[in-house]
Amino acid sequence: MKIDLTKLTIIEASEGLKNRDFTSVELTKAFLNKIKEKDKEIKAYITVIEEIALKQAERADKMIKNKEIYPLTGIPCAIKDNILIKDIKCTASSKFLENYIATYNATVIEKLEKMGAVFLGKTNLDEFAMGSSCENSAFFTTKNPRDLERVPGGSSGGSAAAVAADMCIYALGSDTGGSIRQPASFCGITGLKPTYGTVSRYGLIAFASSLDQIGPLTKNIDDAKIVFDAIKGSDPMDSTSVNLEKKNNLSKLRIGVPKEYFAKGLDGEVEKSIKEAINIYKELGAEIVDISLPMSEYALACYYIIAPAEASANLARFDGLRYGKTIKDEEAEKIIDIYLKNRTAGFGKEVKKRIMLGTYTLSSGYYDAYYKRALKARTLIKQDFEKAFEKVDVIIGPTAPCLPFKIGEKSDDPMSMYLSDIYTVSVNLAGLPAISIPCGKSQSGLPIGMHLIGAPFEEEKLLSIASLFEKKYDNK
Ligand code: GLN
Repeated sequence: MKIDLTKLTIIEASEGLKNRDFTSVELTKAFLNKIKEKDKEIKAYITVIEEIALKQAERADKMIKNKEIYPLTGIPCAIKDNILIKDIKCTASSKFLENYIATYNATVIEKLEKMGAVFLGKTNLDEFAMGSSCENSAFFTTKNPRDLERVPGGSSGGSAAAVAADMCIYALGSDTGGSIRQPASFCGITGLKPTYGTVSRYGLIAFASSLDQIGPLTKNIDDAKIVFDAIKGSDPMDSTSVNLEKKNNLSKLRIGVPKEYFAKGLDGEVEKSIKEAINIYKELGAEIVDISLPMSEYALACYYIIAPAEASANLARFDGLRYGKTIKDEEAEKIIDIYLKNRTAGFGKEVKKRIMLGTYTLSSGYYDAYYKRALKARTLIKQDFEKAFEKVDVIIGPTAPCLPFKIGEKSDDPMSMYLSDIYTVSVNLAGLPAISIPCGKSQSGLPIGMHLIGAPFEEEKLLSIASLFEKKYDNK
């Protein structure tokens, strides 16, 4: 019987390539066909780069023939459309960048390319990565492959949907407040947000620079580790990036359960699944430790001051002159009129809202009351985690408080939309690594994700603890 190549994990596909069971060109064609068959409905991709992908696959086949083989050689992947691939359109799902062609490669792309990766295309996101459902994309909304009436999550919804629908083996996303983990949870796959500073952001269109990280979306934890190992490392082009990795020195496993994560607002089915997961860890011999993260209640408010403040500065470059759409206006007398016209036409509603909020909280007279206070709260949130990690190895909880919601269900209710990030944003504020892995399904068959948070630079430990669960849990 012929196997369906699009169902393979990275490890399986890599084995197949090494054993010459199939070539990278065959593998890539299988994915391109799957995209043709399925993506009309799911709409995960903004751009598919068929010819380039096939050329890269040919190159990978040559590398394999010459025994120059890395774990990602010849493996087809998808890239969130806010990460630059030279000479390919990069839109950040904004009308502003509708026709922008990247002039250089992001460092992560450079690293993958050296290893002979195959890029299938660029995936949909909420405009400039601001959102939790992909509904803020200026182009279209991606559908959740597990239920086409529902959102895939966001902002890396296109990447998560592409992996879940077997339209790539793995994908890259970016995570500023949950954008890798929440869509991974909604689509029933694995998503890793690495420690702040472990992966270079050079060539990632910046949203909030003290929070942004690039990371993998994959079919399982072993694959996440492979992609993480391939993209990590310090880079002179991103001064926040470092080479720091702590070895996994796990002796007795202690798992922290914060009481604040199981409070009002958490969906009953999600809660049940996470409690079952905690029991599985108990059965595996872990010590379950009750902990408290009292500052968690301020995390969302803190995030929605800091992220828009940084975004308002980062997005200043999109004025239609330096970057982006230019509206010709012969009548305009002052440059400010041109900026105004361009920015009014180029940005969507959510992005405008964040720029205005951010500009407001940074303005003189409000800076101390909002921005400075949020920075202080951020330090306290970080300290909560530091205290917790004196007692435990990882912290467990739900990735999102709700199941994947229906398209349109929350689009007029920003507060309820923002609340879907309640468990993920504090991780970015504290710069920690965290992973979302599938841990159950609702009665109606919707995926539920479990969130494991690690101490800084302890990805190895975090992933090995996550693997213990994955091995026990049958996701089928
Ligand atoms: N959903 C969050 C927001 O809208 C997080 C986005 C992200 O991580 N890029 O800001």
